[in-house]
Amino acid sequence: MRIDLHTHSRASDGTDTPAGLVRAAVDAGLDVIALTDHDTSDGWDEATKAAEETGLTVVPGMEISTRHHGRGVHLLAYWPDPGYAPLDAELAKVLRGRASRVPVMIERLNALGIAITEDDVRHASHGAVASGRPHVADALVTLGVVPDRTAAFDRYLGWGRPAHVDRYAVPLETALALVRQSGGVTVVAHPWGRGGLGRPDEATFAELRGLGLAGIEVDHQDHDERARGRLRSIARNLDLVATGSSDYHGAGKADHDLGCNTTDPEEYARLLDLR
Ligand code: AMP
Ligand code: ZN
Ligand code: FE
Ligand code: FE
Repeated sequence: MRIDLHTHSRASDGTDTPAGLVRAAVDAGLDVIALTDHDTSDGWDEATKAAEETGLTVVPGMEISTRHHGRGVHLLAYWPDPGYAPLDAELAKVLRGRASRVPVMIERLNALGIAITEDDVRHASHGAVASGRPHVADALVTLGVVPDRTAAFDRYLGWGRPAHVDRYAVPLETALALVRQSGGVTVVAHPWGRGGLGRPDEATFAELRGLGLAGIEVDHQDHDERARGRLRSIARNLDLVATGSSDYHGAGKADHDLGCNTTDPEEYARLLDLR
């Protein structure tokens, strides 16, 4: 059984449609994928329908933008109920923050002499519900300003760069509680990843476990062997589920091919039990 619990579609900043992602997952020989777009369940229906009669299981999920002690934390939520009003209200707030930040980023880029418009970004995002910096990056690539997304983040959009604009994120404690109350299960995504602004230690994970956290994404491309080993032992010590996944973004992220990391079936079964 090959299980990949973190993938993105065009509902956020992946480049495959949800149906295209399902086809790619079948081609990659996967048995289970979780669709975890940023802050939205928008791709679920299309992906679930596309997976019918393929033998592929699609776990409905999302990667929620949260904040903890001033630091950004990506929280994977599996089987949350997006119809649960308090959760829906928080996600709507994040999506509004994502949308209102785009014109500000454009203004900053224009001030730097780059002729980019909101239309360019809309075009790059294919109307994604969750607009993000990667869409601005794609527009910059199309305009020939930068060669790829990474260069756009390094030069303009990353933390501390001239077109970086902050946006709303859900307090982590709130997100943990709301997902739990809505029947879902949570896993901290790439906790020691490159994009992360901090490195939660064992004591922090213990605190988060007390607030309802179920697992840690251990096997992720941002983690080297040493980080994986240490995170795996933290998960074992705290009886947290250890997952592995690709964080696939289609053509949007190199070296994140579907199934490049996978989750042990026994760990997946534990998530199912906690549901
Ligand atoms: P946002 O959600 O708009 O804050 O943008 C953050 C997202 O951009 C992350 O979740 C990644 O998917 C993507 N990202 C971050 N850094 C890079 C990078 N250097 N190159 C490509 N994509 C990136
Ligand atoms: Zn992303
Ligand atoms: Fe992430
Ligand atoms: Fe992700």
